[in-house]
Amino acid sequence: MIQIAIDGPSGAGKSSIAKAVAAKLGIVYVDTGALYRTVGYYVRGKGIARTDAEGTIACLPDIKIEVRYENGAQHVYLNGEDLGDRIREPEISMYASAVSAVPAVRAFLLDTQRDIAAKSSVIMDGRDIGTVILPNADVKIFMTASNEARAARRTKELLAKGIDANYEDVLREMIERDTNDRNRAVAPAVAAPDAIYLDNSLMSIEENVQAVLDIIYEKTGVTV
Ligand code: C5P
Repeated sequence: MIQIAIDGPSGAGKSSIAKAVAAKLGIVYVDTGALYRTVGYYVRGKGIARTDAEGTIACLPDIKIEVRYENGAQHVYLNGEDLGDRIREPEISMYASAVSAVPAVRAFLLDTQRDIAAKSSVIMDGRDIGTVILPNADVKIFMTASNEARAARRTKELLAKGIDANYEDVLREMIERDTNDRNRAVAPAVAAPDAIYLDNSLMSIEENVQAVLDIIYEKTGVTV
C-alpha cells in the first residue's frame, strides 16, 4: 500500500493531476476538498451564515457523509444524496473555506479520510494531507502556481462545467480563500517540512503528471 499526499492552494491543478496519476498507477484518487464543500453545502442550505461557527457545529450531528467510488470516480453522498457538481459553485467554495476553519468540522471529517487510506493505496489531495491526515505518507508534494495561472485555470474549469464565472471574481475569491486557508489556527494550508515543492505555472498537464510520477518513482520505486 502506498500513500501520496498532494497539498497546495486552490487552482494549482492538484485534482486534475492527482486524478491522472491515480489512473496511471491504478490507485484511488481522494478529493478531500469535496468533503468540506459538502459540509458547506449543508450549512448554506440551512440558511446559516458562513461565519457562524456555532451554527455550523450545531449542524454536524445531522450530517452523514459517505464517499463511494463508482467506475473509478469519487462520489460524495450527503445524507444519501449525491450532490454532483452542485458543490463546485463559487459560493460553496467560500462556504467550504469558512467551515473548514472550524476545528470541530476538521475533526468530523478526519476518520472518513483516514479510513479510505487505510483500505487502499491512495493519492489524496487537500490542504493538510501531508501535515495532519497522512503524516507518514510515502510521498508529499506541495503543488502551487502563480495566482494568475491558478485563477485562469479555475475560471476555465468552472465555465467548462457550465458554472457562470469570470476571471476577476475568481482571482479575488481565490486569494481570499487562500488567505483564510493559510492563516487559520488549525491545520493551516502549509507545506509539510518533508514535502517537495512543485511550481507548475509553466508546465503543461502532461509535464506536470510526469513530474509527479518522477517524484513518486524517486521516493518509492513505484512506476507505471
Ligand atoms: O480543494 P477545494 O478547493 O475543493 O477545497 C475547498 C476548500 O476546502 C478549501 O478552500 C479549503 O478551505 C478546504 N479544504 C481544507 N482541507 C482540505 C481540503 C479542502 O481545509 N484537506
